[in-house]
Amino acid sequence: MSLGRIKRQQQAAAWARVLTTAASEDPICPLCGRPIPADQRDAHHLVPRSQGGRLTQVLHRICHRQLHALFTEAELAREYPTIEALKRHPAVARFIHWVQAKPPGFMEKIRRSARRR
Ligand SMILES: [Zn+2]
Ligand SMILES: [Zn+2]
Repeated sequence: MSLGRIKRQQQAAAWARVLTTAASEDPICPLCGRPIPADQRDAHHLVPRSQGGRLTQVLHRICHRQLHALFTEAELAREYPTIEALKRHPAVARFIHWVQAKPPGFMEKIRRSARRR
């Protein structure tokens, strides 16, 4: 094994530790206000790419999926091209309230155990 390869592996291991422990370094989701763990980051086009949008915003995967479950691309482009506009929608406000009580890495797998209680 070459020295360069060992070095790269050590760097990768160090980086993995940083990603799992340095939660305070995680970007904040503009929708729900919680930090976004590395494995939950999704780029959302504020105006969908199909509507000519270029600006993206990093959100939780679960927040991102919720937006696309609620709105069509045409609606996003026409009525909700900003985070502020999205937050004013009652269904989005309800979702934010709900998801804010969850840990930052929350995704479907936790929903399953909650249902069993
Ligand atoms: Zn999106
Ligand atoms: Zn979020």
